[in-house]
Amino acid sequence: MKNFIIFGPPGAGKGSQAVILAKKYNLKHISTGDILREEIKNGTKLGLKVKSLMDEGALVSDDIILEIIENVILNAKGYSGFLYDGFPRTVYQFSALDEFLQKIGQRVDAVISLVVKEDVLIRRMLRRAEIEGRADDADINVVKTRIETYREQTEPLIEIFQKRGNYYPLEGDTTIEKNFNEICTLIDSLG
Ligand code: AMP
Repeated sequence: MKNFIIFGPPGAGKGSQAVILAKKYNLKHISTGDILREEIKNGTKLGLKVKSLMDEGALVSDDIILEIIENVILNAKGYSGFLYDGFPRTVYQFSALDEFLQKIGQRVDAVISLVVKEDVLIRRMLRRAEIEGRADDADINVVKTRIETYREQTEPLIEIFQKRGNYYPLEGDTTIEKNFNEICTLIDSLG
């Protein structure tokens, strides 16, 4: 089983790439953001708990996220691996994933990082709000908070990934197709 992390700030294009990559490589796409939005849509207890945090652009607690991840991994059948999108977002989440994967005899094979400048991220999220109607994309202040949250809590992970030697930064300010081809070349070269 392969484990790939698609990494980058909000609006970098992780979701778009994850969907097509998962299809091509038969990976289970795990988007914690999508899972949480589904919970909110269905009005579940969990959805109610996380809604206000998501609306303000803050992170949901590590415990909630890790429970979701473990459940999805343990229940996925018939895939060649996993593609984590929007996870891990804190050092703690990564340590827990790492430990969990070790326990089941797996590891993170590669961190594919989409590098995009801040003004492009903001523009993309505001545009996405018009298409997908995500409240946390529509408000410029929430968008800025999410980028700040990323810089403070998620970006420190890069140093850890670099030390592991499996961190692959790619230019994300390009077309979906070009980006996809580059990621495929990278994954294919990893064997
Ligand atoms: P995303 O769709 O990945 O941009 O996530 C949308 C929102 O869901 C984030 O702003 C967080 O509030 C929450 N969220 C998604 N994934 C995580 C995670 N791994 N850790 C904490 N909060 C998360």
